[in-house]
Amino acid sequence: MKRDFVTIDDLSDSALASLMDLADRIRSNLRGHAADLPGYLMGSLFLEPSTRTRLSFEASMLRLGGRVITSSDPDTSSSVKGETLADTIRIVDSYVDVTVLRHPCAGAARLAARLARGPVINAGDGSHEHPSQTLCDLYTLRSERGPIAAQTVVLYGDLRYGRTVHSLARALVRFGARVLAIADGGLSLPEFVVDDLAGRPGCGIREVRINDMEDVFRRRGVEALLIAPEVTLPPAVGAAPLELNLRDQKVHAIYVTRLQKERLRGEAHGTSLPILDHRFLRSPTFSDSIVLHPLPRVGEIARELDTDPRAAYFRQAALGVPIRMALLLWCCGMVDLGAKAAPPARLEACTGGACANLGCITVKEEPGFAEVGRDSDGRLRCLFCEERVSEPSGS
Ligand code: ASP
Repeated sequence: MKRDFVTIDDLSDSALASLMDLADRIRSNLRGHAADLPGYLMGSLFLEPSTRTRLSFEASMLRLGGRVITSSDPDTSSSVKGETLADTIRIVDSYVDVTVLRHPCAGAARLAARLARGPVINAGDGSHEHPSQTLCDLYTLRSERGPIAAQTVVLYGDLRYGRTVHSLARALVRFGARVLAIADGGLSLPEFVVDDLAGRPGCGIREVRINDMEDVFRRRGVEALLIAPEVTLPPAVGAAPLELNLRDQKVHAIYVTRLQKERLRGEAHGTSLPILDHRFLRSPTFSDSIVLHPLPRVGEIARELDTDPRAAYFRQAALGVPIRMALLLWCCGMVDLGAKAAPPARLEACTGGACANLGCITVKEEPGFAEVGRDSDGRLRCLFCEERVSEPSGS
């Protein structure tokens, strides 16, 4: 079976751990792998802007002794002439051994994986997922702060359109970490992510109101979601948010995201959260917190933090190479990550209903591929973008 990496759930917990172990070995001798994938060709098809993801994938393939062909400017690819992703991917796949795809539509990588004969890696599909960034994030958390299960991670910023946090929240929950999701005005985690997390065995979610730290957040009563193993959470009392004192907590990492302006479709969103700077990190809660960001940052983290040892975002970007080298080795069939590499699919395929998400590949380009499935609570969802789908009338 070919090894696609479309969602973070394509790799089990043990497979993720093995991949990080492999990245450790690669990292200790980055120049020593030039004979690992000789003769292999990677296609990097980036139909949306990218710097780090594309270059780190390309650097990874080159360091493994393979070669790369690239289409990195959407304006010079045939998509501007009206070619569909389905046609483009059939062609690129016929030229290469592995395809890395970035696309503005949710579900694009899943569609590509269906059509390609070789493995497809999702390098970001609209505001849906960005699983290879999550590999890099998990690897940084493990390298810098130890076992992920023991960590409390704050997700901070645009959590609605920021695709990296959609994949990261799922992975953190799987490892049993505590996640505090603090969103910029109106940009909290989308329903498809929250429902998925809530349906995962042992995972609890509480709405909370942060009662203290007005000096940090510049206001009282910041609302957030606390996501953690259910057994560790206090019981929910009615519909009111639980009061949370953050000063009592130790945060291992703050993961900051930028406002994804390109996805706002005319909506106005003001920035309600203060930027991260020395003043913010002065609080004892953050005295030991590393600061992560998938980058690019556009003002969410003050430049004065760059020399602070807690600023881990450049180290995080650098770790993108060994972990993506490990991923390419797996996708190309060169390493095994244990018998249970793939956990069961999130949605169980069924018939009925059609996706209405204008950002979904099956709505925008390929209605012929529309397929739905039921989640663990029996709700109908698009198999590509995971948005809710209305039940067909008469059912
Ligand atoms: N580089 C990340 C992404 O492609 C984060 C961002 O663009 O804000 O999703």
